[in-house]
Amino acid sequence: MKIHRNSSLKKFNTFNVDELAQLIIEIDNISDLPNILSNKKDEILVLGGGSNILFTKPYNGLIINLKNKGKKIIQEDENTVLVEVSAGENWHEFVLWAIKNNFGGLENLSLIPGNLGAAPIQNIGAYGVELKDIFYSCKGLMLDTLSEFEFKKTECKFDYRTSIFKSTLKNKTVITSVKLILTKSKHNFNIDYKDLNINLQDTELSVKKISDEVIKIRTSKLPNPKFFGNCGSFFKNPIVNSDTYKSLLDKFPNIPAHKIDEDNYKISAAWLIDQSGFKNKKDKNVGVYENQPLVIINNGKATGKELLNFALNIKETIYNNFEIELEEEVIIM
Ligand SMILES: Cc1cc2nc3c(=O)[nH]c(=O)nc-3n(C[C@H](O)[C@H](O)[C@H](O)COP(=O)(O)OP(=O)(O)OC[C@H]3O[C@@H](n4cnc5c(N)ncnc54)[C@H](O)[C@@H]3O)c2cc1C
Repeated sequence: MKIHRNSSLKKFNTFNVDELAQLIIEIDNISDLPNILSNKKDEILVLGGGSNILFTKPYNGLIINLKNKGKKIIQEDENTVLVEVSAGENWHEFVLWAIKNNFGGLENLSLIPGNLGAAPIQNIGAYGVELKDIFYSCKGLMLDTLSEFEFKKTECKFDYRTSIFKSTLKNKTVITSVKLILTKSKHNFNIDYKDLNINLQDTELSVKKISDEVIKIRTSKLPNPKFFGNCGSFFKNPIVNSDTYKSLLDKFPNIPAHKIDEDNYKISAAWLIDQSGFKNKKDKNVGVYENQPLVIINNGKATGKELLNFALNIKETIYNNFEIELEEEVIIM
C-alpha cells in the first residue's frame, strides 16, 4: 500500500492535468479495502489508469488507486477458457498475454489504455467489438455497505460506451476483478471495420494478425499520452432516430452515419467536429489532434478547466450547426 497526501494527480491521469489530490491510496492487496473504506467518511473515487477522466479542480476526497495483480484460468473446455483478471492489471498487457496464448476475443481491443477494473464502466469498444462480447461477470464491493457483489453480463446493462456503473451505480462500486470468456479455437474474427477489412480481407486470419493490424492503425491515428495528454475520444458518436437522420441527410448529404437498428443511426462525431471548423484547431495549450478530431489534446501546460472549456465550445458549436447534443465519453470531475 502507498499513501500520497496533497499530491499532484499529474502522473495519475493521461490528460496529464496537474490538479491536487488530498489523499491517494494505492492498493495492491484488496483485502485492505474493507478496512480503508470503513474508516473513511469522505467522498471516494476509484481510479484506474486515469485514461478516461478529466480533473477540472482539486479532488478533496479519497482516491483509491487499485494496483492488484493476477490472472487465472478458472474454467476450460474444448473451445473456450474463462479467465479471471484482477482490476489493477493493465488492459493491453492482458490482451498481449491472451494473444500469446492464441486466445480469441480481445484482438480488436488491443492497445486501449487503462486497467481491467475500468473496462466494464464504459463497456470499452473498438473496431466493431465491445467488452460485452466477451464479458462473463465482475466482482467487487459496494462502497457504502461494503457488501460483496458479482454481477453477470445482463445485470451490468451494457450499451454503447456505458453500463450500470455509469448510470444507477455511478461512483457506488469498486470492481476488484473481471471474468472474461475467450475462445481457444473456432475464433469469431471480426474485421467488418473498414480499415481492418482493407488490409486483412485476403489473408488467413489469426488473433495475432488482427491484433498487430489494430495496433498499427491505432498507433498511426491516436496520440500517445506520453507526448500529448489525452483521453482518446472526448465525445461519443451521437445516436439519432431515423426522422432526425433523414432531415440531417437532406441538409448535409455527405453526413457519415451507421444504421444500428430500424429506428436509430449513429452519426460520426469526428465528422461533425471537422465540419464545424475544428480541424487542427488550437487554443493556447489545448487543441484537436491532427489525425483524429474526436481527440482533444493537452499541449503540455493545459489545466483541466481549459480542456473542459475547449470541449464545451466544440459541443456548443455542434449544437448550433446541427442541433445535435454531443455527450462526453470522458468522465468530468
Ligand atoms: C489514447 C487513448 C485511446 C483510447 N481508446 C479507447 C477505445 O478505443 N475505446 C474505449 O472504449 N476507450 C478508449 N479510451 C478510453 C480509456 O482507455 C478507457 O475508457 C479505459 O477503460 C479507462 O481505463 P482506466 O483504468 O484508465 O480508467 P480511469 O480513467 O481511471 O477511470 C474511468 C472511470 O472508471 C471508474 N473506475 C476505474 N476503475 C474502477 C474500478 N476498479 N471500480 C469501479 N470504478 C472504476 C473511475 O471512477 C472513472 O469513473 C482511450 C483512451 C486513450 C488515452
